[in-house]
Amino acid sequence: MVLMPIVALGMMVVFAGMTLLYQFYSQGIQDELTSTTNIMLDCLDMTVRGDYSYESGMLLKGDLNITDSTMLYRVKEKTGIDTTIFWQDTRIMTTVENQYGVSAVGTSAGKDVVESVLENGENYYSNKIDINGTPYIGYYMPIKNDDDTVVGMIFAGKNRNLVFRKVALILLWFMMFFVIACIIAVVVSSLYSRHMVSDIGIINRFLKTISEGDLTATLDERIAGRKDELGKIGAYAAKMRGDLQNVIETDPLTKLYNRRSCNNKLKALEKDGQEYTITMCDIDRFKRINDNYGHDAGDYVLVTISGIICENIGNIGFASRWGGEEFLLVYQTGYDMAIENVRQIQRIIRNYDFEYNGEKLKITMTFGMEADDVSLSYEERIRKADSNLYIGKNNGRDQIVDGREGRQPV
Ligand code: GH3
Ligand code: MG
Ligand code: MG
Repeated sequence: MVLMPIVALGMMVVFAGMTLLYQFYSQGIQDELTSTTNIMLDCLDMTVRGDYSYESGMLLKGDLNITDSTMLYRVKEKTGIDTTIFWQDTRIMTTVENQYGVSAVGTSAGKDVVESVLENGENYYSNKIDINGTPYIGYYMPIKNDDDTVVGMIFAGKNRNLVFRKVALILLWFMMFFVIACIIAVVVSSLYSRHMVSDIGIINRFLKTISEGDLTATLDERIAGRKDELGKIGAYAAKMRGDLQNVIETDPLTKLYNRRSCNNKLKALEKDGQEYTITMCDIDRFKRINDNYGHDAGDYVLVTISGIICENIGNIGFASRWGGEEFLLVYQTGYDMAIENVRQIQRIIRNYDFEYNGEKLKITMTFGMEADDVSLSYEERIRKADSNLYIGKNNGRDQIVDGREGRQPV
């Protein structure tokens, strides 16, 4: 598709170039022939005074015999232009020869030439003159005596075959240049479009993977490196994937992982046989916050607590919003480090000065832990943590229920 206009354009350029070149060249030839005939006629007119006459095979100017072809052959030698002097319509001196080298002396001019030059006294130019079977581009001028009677003609011409050969040679170079330019354009554009198609394929596969629900897909760095529209499309697709992942995986209010993505992460940890410890926690008497201070105050508490949890877990695990005011903490560590961190979070929340619209709020949380029992599935371990949370709630809240058997709530 890219190549077709290139070739079409190239052909138009070549065609226009050929036409212009031919016009330019033939105008040049016409000018050359006109000046040659003018100069020769001036030479004859200026050298000797008197009228032209033709007697016993001799061309006379006044009394002087000017039947001498030297000047004609000199012109031919210097310029490659054939010249002829006619008495009436007959060639009496000429450098024109037929293909066998026989001089055209004695032959006559064509009908058109005779009519224009001899009868009407006009100049005559044509690029389709036939002299003894040889095609010529030629120019004729009348030779006149002092009383303006036309007595003959002077002709200058170039063998059309030779002219065409020269033009053809130039055109051949022109064509060669065009063909080479076309080949380069073909190679460059096909390499470029192949590269582009392959990058479009990469973006296509990336979008397909996302549309199939796999938001872990990454886009080849090659696309990000592109500075053109494809690079932009790739960047938008990658951003869309990230945004989509955020929308799907996180809770809009607290920005923590939602229940669905937390489940997926636990499933992956279990599948990889990695160590983890689960803690379920819930804000104590949260309903009262909503009831006493309004829903917005409740939201403020949820967001603040989420921030505290996130900050304190740091990179040893992650937190998710499991339900309304219930959070599931996953520690990717052993039990001791996990319980240490849970104690820290409990302490910070207990001592934190929550304040909403000038009202100071006291918040506590209850935590239920599970022992990192690798023989259980992650669902069973969640249930364990949840039932320990329930125990903590029933035991008076604001406490951590140790997951290890035999341990009392702390
Ligand atoms: P307990 O100590 O037994 O957990 O008592 P509680 O009041 O915290 O528990 P309960 O289940 O009775 O009430 C939870 C409340 O949390 C009820 C619900 O309106 C509120 N809640 C759930 N999600 C949101 C939320 O996104 N924003 C606000 N402001 N409140 C929420
Ligand atoms: Mg609660
Ligand atoms: Mg609850």
